[in-house]
Amino acid sequence: EQPVLEVLDLKKHYPLRGGLLGGVKGYVYAVDGVSFHVNRGETLSIVGESGCGKSTVGKAILRLFDITDGQVVLEGTRIDTMPLGTLRKRRRQMQVVFQDPFSSLNPRMRVRDILAEPIRNFGLAKDGAALDKRLNELMDTVRLPREAINRWPHEFSGGQRQRIGIARALAADPSLIICDEAVSALDVSVKAQIVNLLGDLQKELGLALLFISHDLAIVEHMTHRVAVMYLGKIVEVAPRRELFAAPKHPYTEALLSAVPVPEPGAARKRIVLKGDVPSPINPPSGCRFHTRCPYVFDRCRVDEPRLQPTESGHFAACHLHDLPAAENPLARNTPL
Ligand code: SF4
Ligand code: MG
Repeated sequence: EQPVLEVLDLKKHYPLRGGLLGGVKGYVYAVDGVSFHVNRGETLSIVGESGCGKSTVGKAILRLFDITDGQVVLEGTRIDTMPLGTLRKRRRQMQVVFQDPFSSLNPRMRVRDILAEPIRNFGLAKDGAALDKRLNELMDTVRLPREAINRWPHEFSGGQRQRIGIARALAADPSLIICDEAVSALDVSVKAQIVNLLGDLQKELGLALLFISHDLAIVEHMTHRVAVMYLGKIVEVAPRRELFAAPKHPYTEALLSAVPVPEPGAARKRIVLKGDVPSPINPPSGCRFHTRCPYVFDRCRVDEPRLQPTESGHFAACHLHDLPAAENPLARNTPL
């Protein structure tokens, strides 16, 4: 089956302001060769620390800027090179839910008009009755009371506003929804509600969901697959259970070590990474993680690892997997 979204070797390099770095033209390598796909009825989460390029990936798919290289394919059609006029009509197929439910809703529009706008723009209701029916349906879908549709955004809590943001995305009847830190601004208890809602909707509606988050803990119970990004590259991608139970990249292992384990007594070994994420202007040579990796060895500093299948069948970019199992500390990470 054809994936809803395919991203192939995506690159986004920004020229440095001023343009020169030590006399040569400088670039920010925000996204540097990223490939993945999202199937119908699937949630793929992209996780990584701030500055890893995950939001840039989301924005590139939405065509908020032109990409440097690579391809973005939506429902079998390449959209990164599509004229903007043609793309406008296809926008319906991919919708976005933003981080900040306070600024993403127009305060001067009632919820009714916020939701009606995409339905009208894309010609999705044939008359007033059909529009009303659709609006009621959307309120039901995001579990908000129908009467609330005549209220203003400021009358809602953060979590309720995010429900409206989700309803607005659904109003266009998309096949793909991109959530960029969609729950990061919310209180802990509300976070879980919105994550559960997204998971339910994804199942009910058979959507493809691309869930971008800095927080690995948030995706532990909702996603199908996880892609971990570091300095503009995907370093590991795997089905959720395998990734959480047996990470095959040292960076994922370190991120996971900070995620609390629900069962009392069962603690993950805490790995504290030294230093900060290096600058994407001059990323480290070889493996970009080598300046912080607890397992670094000589080859890592010169040779860039490629994303390749590990013995357990998921993908990781790390030279450790070329070593005999006895010398590979990550080989000990086996599913429970
Ligand atoms: Fe660490 Fe080397 Fe693997 Fe990079 S390639 S993650 S530096 S062990
Ligand atoms: Mg971001």
